[in-house]
Amino acid sequence: MTDAPNVYDAEPIPESARIEIDKMLQSGDLFRYTSADASPVALLEKEFAALLGAKFALAVSSCSAALFLSLKALQLPRDTKVLIPAFTFAAVPSAVVHAECKPILVEVGKNYRVDMEDFAAKLTPEIGAVIISHMRGHTSDMDAIMALCADKNIPVIEDAAHSLGTTWNGQNIGTIGKIGCFSFQSYKLINAGEGGIMITDDPDLIAQAIIMSGAYEHNWKKHPVVHDRFEHWQNQLPLYNLRMQNLSAAVIRPQIAEVKRRVVDGLSNHDYVADLLNASPFISVPPALTPESRAPDSIQFNLDGFSDEETLAFADAANENGIKVQVFGLSQDNARAFWNWHFIGETPELPKTRAMLMRACDVRLPARLKTPDLDYIANALTSAAATAKNAVKAVA
Ligand SMILES: *Cc1c(COP(=O)(O)O)cnc(C)c1O
Repeated sequence: MTDAPNVYDAEPIPESARIEIDKMLQSGDLFRYTSADASPVALLEKEFAALLGAKFALAVSSCSAALFLSLKALQLPRDTKVLIPAFTFAAVPSAVVHAECKPILVEVGKNYRVDMEDFAAKLTPEIGAVIISHMRGHTSDMDAIMALCADKNIPVIEDAAHSLGTTWNGQNIGTIGKIGCFSFQSYKLINAGEGGIMITDDPDLIAQAIIMSGAYEHNWKKHPVVHDRFEHWQNQLPLYNLRMQNLSAAVIRPQIAEVKRRVVDGLSNHDYVADLLNASPFISVPPALTPESRAPDSIQFNLDGFSDEETLAFADAANENGIKVQVFGLSQDNARAFWNWHFIGETPELPKTRAMLMRACDVRLPARLKTPDLDYIANALTSAAATAKNAVKAVA
C-alpha cells in the first residue's frame, strides 16, 4: 500500500531562476528602479500582461496590495460601500478597510459561488465598487455580475489571487472586470513566497497605481506605458511603497512557462478525485459553471446530511488516514469564516454562507500528484466519511 502523499511540498523553483538570482546577488541590483533599462520586475509586468492578454500590469508586494491600490485608483471617497463575497480570505475585507471603505458581504451558495439573488438585492446605488473573489478558483457567474454592474456603472475588481489559468467563456479570469489582481504567495499557482500583480486596460488606473505603489519622482519613466498620463498625476497621490523587488521577479518569471502544465495537470487531478468522491453517498463536489474552465490546486467538497459531530468525526478519520481536511467553518479563528472578521465592525447574519462553511471541506491537491496518490486521497476521504457516519450512529 502507498503511503499518504505529501500535499504540502511546493515544486522546486526552476534552475534558470537560481542562475538569475546568483547574478543579482553578485551585482547587488535588487531594486526595480535602479537600472535604466528593463529590470526583472518590468520584464515580468510585460510578460504577465501578454500572458493574460491585458494592456497593462503592475507587480507589487502581494495580491492584498494590488486590491488596495485598485480601490485607491478608483478614487472611492471614504466610507464608500464595496460589495464582496462573504466566502473569501480575510485579506479581501482587510483591503477594503485599508482603503477606508466599508465591506458589504454577499451570500455565497453551496457551490462556493456568489448567490446572484442576494448580489442583485445588495447592488444598491450606495455601492461604489464590487470585488469578486474567485475563492479557491471557483468562478461566480461573471456574465450576470458584469451585466448588473454595467447597468449601474459600478466598477468590478476581480480578486483572481487563486485563479491564474482559469477561463470563463474562453476569456482569462482577471481580464473580465476593470482590474484583475493575482497572488504569487506560496499556495498559489506561481510561488514566489510573496508577491502580487494587477492588470487592467485602463491607462489612468494603471498610472495612478504605478505612482501609489512607490514610483516616486520620475521613476514612472521606467514603466514603458502610458507616459502621457503621468504628468497629470505627478505629486497628486500618496506613495504607499508596495513595490516588488527584483529577486521576486526572478523567482516568478521562469514559472510562467510552467503555468500551462500546472493548469492541465491540476484540472485532471481534480476531476479524477471529484469523480471518485461523487461516487460516495456522503460527499458531493459541486460542478463548475458551464462557461468556466478551472485551474485547481486543491479540492473542495460538501458533506451531505452530516451533523457538526459527524463532520468533525470525518475530519479526524481522514487525518488518521493521513489526509488533512480543513472544514472552513469548524476550525477556530478560520480566516475564511466571515463571523471571525471582527475588524469590519458588526458581521451580518448570512445563513446560506454559514451553512456552506460548516460542511465545506478543503484538501490540497497539487498538480505534481500522480494517480496512486490521487487514489489514496480519494479512498482516505470516502472511507473516512463512511467511518464518521457509522461511528456517530453507533454511539447514538
Ligand atoms: C491568497 C489570496 C489572497 C491574498 O493574497 P496575498 O498575495 O497573500 O495578499 C486574496 N484572495 C484570495 C482569494 C486568495 O486566495
